[in-house]
Amino acid sequence: MLSVHTSPLHQPGTGDAGGMNVYIVELSKRLAEQGTEVEIFTRATASELPPLVELAPGVLVRHVTAGPYEGLLKEDLPAQLCAFTHGVLRTEAGHRPGHYDVVHSHYWLSGQVGWLAADRWGVPLVHTMHTMAKVKNASLAMGDTPEPAARVIGESQVVAAADRLIANTDEEAQQLAHHYGAHPEQLSVVHPGVNLEVFRPATATPTGPVGDALDKPLDPAAEAARVRAIRSRLGLPVDAVVLLFAGRIQPLKAPDVLVRAVAQLLDESPELRSRIVVPIVGGPSGSGMAKPEALQKLAAQLGVCDVIRFQPPVSHAELADWYRAATALVMPSHSESFGLVALEAQACGTPVVAAAVGGLPVAVRDGETGFLVHGHDLRAWARTLRRFVDHPELGARMGAAAARHARAFGWDAAARTTAELYADSIARTRAAQSHGMAAATAR
Ligand code: UDP
Repeated sequence: MLSVHTSPLHQPGTGDAGGMNVYIVELSKRLAEQGTEVEIFTRATASELPPLVELAPGVLVRHVTAGPYEGLLKEDLPAQLCAFTHGVLRTEAGHRPGHYDVVHSHYWLSGQVGWLAADRWGVPLVHTMHTMAKVKNASLAMGDTPEPAARVIGESQVVAAADRLIANTDEEAQQLAHHYGAHPEQLSVVHPGVNLEVFRPATATPTGPVGDALDKPLDPAAEAARVRAIRSRLGLPVDAVVLLFAGRIQPLKAPDVLVRAVAQLLDESPELRSRIVVPIVGGPSGSGMAKPEALQKLAAQLGVCDVIRFQPPVSHAELADWYRAATALVMPSHSESFGLVALEAQACGTPVVAAAVGGLPVAVRDGETGFLVHGHDLRAWARTLRRFVDHPELGARMGAAAARHARAFGWDAAARTTAELYADSIARTRAAQSHGMAAATAR
């Protein structure tokens, strides 16, 4: 696997680390458990990093030196792709021939490296886009910078070179075909998963098999008692309506829409002020920004600083408690290739209020496991959030349905489908190679 711009060892939820990091880690672990060994190449971002790290049994992370360790922006990485590719090719040259059977690249920067490596080694290139410049540019938030033409060109080249393209959803597959000219036979849809061992409702037994725990319907009274204890531990008021945002703070994820909608709600009903809390868990996106200052400023301007709580990024184990503590997770994103946090929250028994974009209509069942909101009209968002205030039983009812729904999204299934897809690509490449050799001999 190739992950040039962000390491699977980084903490997701800040900087350049997000769902893609989680995707690579979880998929690789499950692939290894199922018998496919994985090596992940990523750029070294500190001098003290060892060249090789074992992430899990059967999963190695290889650090490639390409450019300065620190202070290199993602935008500057295209100039380092040659150095990165050199590192990858040199590593392979140190092994017996045929060490790698398939190259799976993530994001277009890795696709550029994978394109060359796969060609050189005579193995198939499987590529996952994670995000697409053309899609992102079509739904930019106000003031957000468009993705450059160089990325669009680079993505088109990778699509043309890939043997297989893995899309998160049918919609993403259609976008790949529509915007980048991908052929149907290149495209496969594999839904990402959620780690059901970590993300589980508060009352699901911490040690027993999660399946058993969830086969029984959630006991609302016991669940509520556990949630109160978790809220106390996190310093949240036990009886409040907790509307959680989790993820990188970036215009595309629109945390400002949540802040504005809450301000709208409190304008309409000032008596709710003491009953609503909005934790924002995560760090700024990209590099260079120390704090999500713009969002803090906005909260101050709107006079809602007292209900908003900023929390730096936390580990998955800790984040699971934030989900459990929440009445609902709120995702007002302008664009989302999938939106893993929607699955994670639901797996913890928490409903999701999400914009009807990207993978979110797949992740969230409207009216059953949460609500989908079309567009970003603040009144519509405020109205939807208010439903959790007016109907205190709604959170628990939708939460139980959400926990059941999320169980369909295990990483094991995603890894099995991906391994089948690798095997099929390898077989096709080998068949084409022997056909080519036979034709050459005949000539
Ligand atoms: N995340 C985390 N800690 C945090 C906030 C987020 O580990 O404090 C993780 C979250 O659990 C999820 C990922 O970051 O797995 C974000 O993925 P998502 O697909 O929602 O968004 P992306 O960052 O890929 O746009």
